[in-house]
Amino acid sequence: MSIVLGKNDYLNTSVIDEHLKTAVKKLDKQIAEIRENGCKIVPPVGPTKVAPRFMVNGDYDLSRRWSWRLHHGPIPEGHRIYTSCHDRYCVAPEHLFAYRAERKPKGERKIVRPLAKLDWTKVAEIRASEDDYATLATRYGVHPTTIRSIRDGKTWVKH
Ligand SMILES: [Zn+2]
Repeated sequence: MSIVLGKNDYLNTSVIDEHLKTAVKKLDKQIAEIRENGCKIVPPVGPTKVAPRFMVNGDYDLSRRWSWRLHHGPIPEGHRIYTSCHDRYCVAPEHLFAYRAERKPKGERKIVRPLAKLDWTKVAEIRASEDDYATLATRYGVHPTTIRSIRDGKTWVKH
């Protein structure tokens, strides 16, 4: 099995050195399956099935990142390498794309919701509301037992 190098062939430029030749060999060896859609699959590693990496000249990197570097050149600053086929074990160069790390593709973004802090206004709203514990807990970013304690007059009691 061999990897087909792209038209913009990084390996044919003066940039090529022994380390890159080693990387080609290691990547080539790792490819376990070529699928009909063009995916070139490297086997997952360990019980957590992480995407495989390999080391060349002290540089330990993901196989798909090596594939990118070999076929398309250096990875642009601040970018990560994703697969358009959504298979994280795929190293096919035509399935790889670079994306700025802080702007991940849709659906991969983590939703960070700041915890709402309670104040007397919110406590009054909670006590006046007819919504259930779960609804209010979600709305105010607190645990349902917090809502219950407020309603039962155990917390947020004015003296
Ligand atoms: Zn693929």
